[in-house]
Amino acid sequence: MEIFDPAELWGRERIENVQLSRLKSIVTHARNCGFYRERLDQAGIRADNLRSLDDIRHIPFTVKQDLRAQYPAGLLCVPSSKIVRMHCSSGTTGTPVAVCHTQNDVNAWADLMARCLHMVGVRREDAFQNMSGYGLFTGGLGIHFGAERLGCMTIPAGAGNTRRQIKLIKDFRVTVAHILPSYALILGEHLRSAGEDPRDLPLRIAVVGAEPYTEEFRKRIEEIFGIKAYNSYGLSEMNGPGVGFECPEQHGLHIWEDAYIAEIVEPETGVPVPEGEVGELVMTSLCREGMPILRYRTRDLTRFLPGECPCGRAHRRIDRILGRADDMFIIKGVNVYPMQIEEVIMTFPEVGQNYLILLENDGVGDMMRVQVEVRDEYFVEDMRMLQNLQKAIARRLRAEILLTPKVELMESNSLPRAEGKAVRVRDLRGNR
Ligand code: ADP
Ligand code: ZN
Repeated sequence: MEIFDPAELWGRERIENVQLSRLKSIVTHARNCGFYRERLDQAGIRADNLRSLDDIRHIPFTVKQDLRAQYPAGLLCVPSSKIVRMHCSSGTTGTPVAVCHTQNDVNAWADLMARCLHMVGVRREDAFQNMSGYGLFTGGLGIHFGAERLGCMTIPAGAGNTRRQIKLIKDFRVTVAHILPSYALILGEHLRSAGEDPRDLPLRIAVVGAEPYTEEFRKRIEEIFGIKAYNSYGLSEMNGPGVGFECPEQHGLHIWEDAYIAEIVEPETGVPVPEGEVGELVMTSLCREGMPILRYRTRDLTRFLPGECPCGRAHRRIDRILGRADDMFIIKGVNVYPMQIEEVIMTFPEVGQNYLILLENDGVGDMMRVQVEVRDEYFVEDMRMLQNLQKAIARRLRAEILLTPKVELMESNSLPRAEGKAVRVRDLRGNR
C-alpha cells in the first residue's frame, strides 16, 4: 500500500506507546498556561503519574465554555511571538473560540491533512478546488495547505458563486474538490437545470465534511457527479479538518491516533461508554505547541467501530457523526436528531437538494413541519403523485421517529440557504 506517512501503518502497540509518551509530554507542556497548571494541580496530575493510557481519565475535561472564558490568549503555552496563525470556530452554537498555532503546528496540521487526502488517492497530479469559506474558518486554509503539501495545484475558490465554481472546474480540469454536503447538491442541481450533466465534469473525488450528513446523502452526491465522496471530520479546537477521515473502504473515519487521543463518553456522566456504543467524542491534541487542548468535550455524537479496518490501518475508526448533542430536539416527549429525518427523506428520489425542519406551537401543542424541496422534473407531475409522495414521506417519518410531522413539498430552490453550514432546524416554539 502506498502511504504518505509511516505512522499510518503503525500497529496498535506502537500507536499506544507513542500516545502514552506524547500524552506525558503534552501534559507537561500544558502547564505553561495558568489555566491548565491550576487544573492539573487540582487533580493531582503530573506526567509521571500517568502510567497507562487509561489514566487519561483522571485529567479533567475541557469544555467549550473554558475556551470562551480563556479567549483570546489564556490557553497559550508558548510566548506569543511564536504564534504564526489563529483560527476561530464557525460559531455554529454560540460565541466562537480562538485557537493559535505555531509554525510547527501549522506544518504538522498540513501533514495530517495531506495524509488524509493521499489515503483516498489524491496525488500531486490532481487539481484541487477548495469550495469552503476561507478566512477564520478552518475548512479554508486547513484543507488548502494539506492539498498544497501533497503537491496539488490548489484553487482557493472559497464558498458560493456557483457559476464561477463550475467555470474553474472546467477551465483547470479540477479532479478533486472539497465541498460542504449541502452545497454539493446545490451545485449539482444548478448544472442540471442549465441542461448539463454533472457527470461530465472532470471531478473524480470529493472531500465532504464540516457538517453532519447521512449515508443516503453521500450516495446522492456520488451519483449526481459520478465520483467518490469521502467524509472528512474535524473541529477548530483540534486544528480543523484532518482529525478523522474515511479511507477507501468508506466505512468509518480513521482518527489519526499518533496526533490525537479519542475517547467516547456518556454525555451526562463523562464515563466511557461500552465499546461500540454511541456517546460524545472527547479529543486530546497530542502534539500541539501553541494551544494544546486536553480532553475536549466535542459535543459530537458517534461510536467507535469495532474490529479492524480491511484497509490495514490500525488507527481506530469512528462512525459518521450522528449530530451534535445540541442538535437534538424534543417534540411531544420524543428525542429527535435532524439526521434521522434526513435519512428518511433522502431515500426518495423525488426529493431535491434542501429541506428544513420547523418546530412550532399552535397554542394547543408542539408541531413539527418538514419542508422538502422536490426536484423540478417531479414538481410538474400531477397533483395525485405529489399527494402520494407527501403521504409516503410522512408515513416513513412516522415509522422512524414515532410521530407524524406535517410534510410540505416545496419547489426547487425555494428554501433559504445558509452561507456556510446548513441550518436544518428552526425552533419557533419560543417565539410565541
Ligand atoms: P463550529 O462548532 O462553530 O461549527 P467548527 O468550524 O470548528 O466550529 O466546526 C466543527 C464542528 O463541525 C464539529 O464539532 C462537528 O460538529 C461539525 N463537523 C465537522 N465535520 C463534520 C463531519 N464530517 N460530519 C459531521 N459533523 C462535522
Ligand atoms: Zn481503513
